Amino acid sequence: MKIYNTLTRKVEEFVPNNKECVTMYTCGPTVYHYAHIGNLRTYIFEDILEKTLNYIGYNVKRCMNITDVGHLTSDSDSGEDKMLKGAKREHKSVLEIAQFYTDEFKRDIEKLNIKWPEIVSKATDNIDMYIKIVKKLLDDNYAYISGGNVYFDTSKLLDYYKLTNHKVDDMVIGVRDGVEEDLSKKNQADFVLWFTKSKFDSQELKWDSPWGIGYPGWHIECSGISIKNLGEYLDIHCGGIDNIFPHHTNEIAQSESYLGHKWCNYWVHGEHLNDETGKMSKSKGEFLTLSLLENKGYSPIDYRFMCLNSSYRKVLVFSYEALNQAHDSYQKLKSKVKKLNRNNNEKLENDKILEYKKRFCDALESDLNTSLALTVIYDLLKEKINDSTKLYLIYDFDKVLSLDLLKEEEKKIDDELLKHINEMIVKRAEAKKNKDYNLADSIRNDLEKKGIILKDTKEGTIYEIK
Ligand code: AMP
Ligand code: ZN
Repeated sequence: MKIYNTLTRKVEEFVPNNKECVTMYTCGPTVYHYAHIGNLRTYIFEDILEKTLNYIGYNVKRCMNITDVGHLTSDSDSGEDKMLKGAKREHKSVLEIAQFYTDEFKRDIEKLNIKWPEIVSKATDNIDMYIKIVKKLLDDNYAYISGGNVYFDTSKLLDYYKLTNHKVDDMVIGVRDGVEEDLSKKNQADFVLWFTKSKFDSQELKWDSPWGIGYPGWHIECSGISIKNLGEYLDIHCGGIDNIFPHHTNEIAQSESYLGHKWCNYWVHGEHLNDETGKMSKSKGEFLTLSLLENKGYSPIDYRFMCLNSSYRKVLVFSYEALNQAHDSYQKLKSKVKKLNRNNNEKLENDKILEYKKRFCDALESDLNTSLALTVIYDLLKEKINDSTKLYLIYDFDKVLSLDLLKEEEKKIDDELLKHINEMIVKRAEAKKNKDYNLADSIRNDLEKKGIILKDTKEGTIYEIK
């Protein structure tokens, strides 16, 4: 399997530390608001990566954090705590906000057929681990206390910027974010490991520590949760590209200084989904959520399908036009699959199974080329192969793609509609009896517009819902 590694800036052959079990860490949501569909694009690509690894035979142990403390409104340790901001906005406590948006996030994940990671851990449940790491970093002189906070000293590392290919000057915190500089830091790039002093005193969640009552920095949470659950040697660490700096850069700095050796071999980042105005944001009033798309009549899988049609490494610009196109293509694909005969017992064509499985694997193994993997399905549907073989392969491929290709749509029908259909069938029968064919036709047409198809059979009129 070949995958692009941000650390080496190359597409590389994936070789795990231990073939028996691949370890994978993915940065989770900051649960102060709904996830926007950009965030969800990242979770879709991570899901494809995990399922591809499973498909080609690896066992994957995956861990994700839930950020419920410590992520400030700027990624560079400045501004207000996002959780506190969310709590104030909704006149609730931080814990209530965290629980509510974690549940909402989980619902989005399920709707998109994303597998919930095996280990999911809340930032607030691992305070002991962060304290242990920070203590050691202080003992080993990688960290210092200043102005009441504990900072990581980036000048101690020669390769602090190894994950990014940007020039050091572009990456200096404060310059990038346009925020005022923290005068307690020794070096501009230093970052907070533990806060006891903040301009925003009303921080709700605080813990005792050897450095005073306070709370952890954002970056330490991922290092702590990952090392605690997946051990000292990590195979893959994922996130969106905005995480490369400062978040992942800082995770590497503190983890490797703490462990005394290289920590993670493959850093895999997903490009962003932008809206037509540019970067997606949650601060601009109504923003693009999965529920918003559902309210407009799209299914979550339309969106998953749209994401899989592009490379995870390319910027994707969201538009309703693009989503409409995805919706139409997805429906067409589903209806082609639906036409396959599920009730025959034709012998499976093993040579074709091998050929198509290879093509499917080749596509995914070349840096998760999901659009090529979809082309393999289109080619399969076109070729003269028996339906049993096609169905077998589609079932198999959908273990990775998770597009519900074989799932029959639930027929949404409520009691009101049922009553209405039956009344119309009776009314139409009467109209026909009275030779009022215009009325009979108009009843049929009205129902058809609602997706209800009437069929006259020997046993009477029946209906089908499209
Ligand atoms: P957050 O909840 O802000 O911590 O972000 C959750 C995940 O979404 C992280 O992996 C981010 O890198 C990722 N992310 C943030 N914005 C976008 C975007 N516009 N498109 C894709 N992924 C994003
Ligand atoms: Zn993280």
